[in-house]
Amino acid sequence: MTPSESMNAWPPGKVPAHAECLLTTTGAAASASRLIALTCDREDDRGYRKATDAAVKGAAEMGQAPGNRAAVVVNPVKLADDEAFRKAVRRAMDAHGWAEPLWLETTPEDPGRGQAESAVSAGVDLVLACGGDGTVTGCAEGVVGTGVPLAVIPMGTGNLLARNVGLPMALDEALEVALGSVQRPIDAGRVNGTLFVVMAGVGLDARMLSGATDPLKKRLGWAAYAISAIRHLGDQPMRVTVSANGDQPRRMRSTALIVGNVGWLRGGVPLLPDARPDDGRLDAIALFASGPASWLAVVADIVLRRPARGGVHRVQFTELRVTLDEEQPWELDGEVMGRTSQLTVVAEPGALLLRMPASAAHHLASRPPSHPGTSWQ
Ligand SMILES: [Mg+2]
Repeated sequence: MTPSESMNAWPPGKVPAHAECLLTTTGAAASASRLIALTCDREDDRGYRKATDAAVKGAAEMGQAPGNRAAVVVNPVKLADDEAFRKAVRRAMDAHGWAEPLWLETTPEDPGRGQAESAVSAGVDLVLACGGDGTVTGCAEGVVGTGVPLAVIPMGTGNLLARNVGLPMALDEALEVALGSVQRPIDAGRVNGTLFVVMAGVGLDARMLSGATDPLKKRLGWAAYAISAIRHLGDQPMRVTVSANGDQPRRMRSTALIVGNVGWLRGGVPLLPDARPDDGRLDAIALFASGPASWLAVVADIVLRRPARGGVHRVQFTELRVTLDEEQPWELDGEVMGRTSQLTVVAEPGALLLRMPASAAHHLASRPPSHPGTSWQ
């Protein structure tokens, strides 16, 4: 049914002027619910109420939810062909009866947060984060706690949130999921107040990210990180004091301390195999190795998912405090954040509403609860 056809519910010549406006605007696929709010001074007008009902019904019959305008926040650096991308997005929006989206680009200074916040202020019903994990995190920070869902169109090197949750990598499939009706709340975390959705860490992983330059990533893809990591395997370990869930502080030597909302790295490496993004907790791993043999043992323990021992310690937490004897580089969702000697990590349960395929939502819902290991093991 087209918008003008939905107006046929009214007897000819009996459509109130404001109702006509409402129906026309709905036909342009704007959000009927927002229009209701905008015209609530006519709340006592029965004609208005009927028009509202007809508009919402018309939208529903067109296969739309009443809200149907999205913001597309894209990292232009990741776009190989801007025109083809916009064409594909418009085709999907049209097919689902959505309006022309708001187009917003990220910048090196603002990788998504400001753009997503503007989009939420403009009243969009969905934000599409199109880029790598940095873009996803930026956009997540902009929508978190607003009730506006986030969809991911993966375009990065890692795409770790998308891969961990089971989101499709191909553009057309990702758009189908974005404009579909399945969404679930997932957790997020904050390190020193900054939101993350995948992982954050201090020590080796931050050095590894610093060393994987853009030209290297372009040439080698994911392998750039592995090469960079190998260069830093001989670095001096950190001396840290950690306290999880308010427990007694514990001293340890660590080469890398990583916290995560999800646990799998590229290449199928189960760094935090118990992590699940909807259990209200975050997972941490502290690694310690000092030479080639002990690194091999640590890597084997991780890959073979052995219980924590020797150079590998794990904990699940809602709050983790980390004090470093010396300032160290740290990273958050793949972005190097500078150096610090203090990290406070807190879980934000169910903070982010994420569009996902029905299969992924089912998989998440049916996973058994992970082990409650809330003290270091
Ligand atoms: Mg979790």
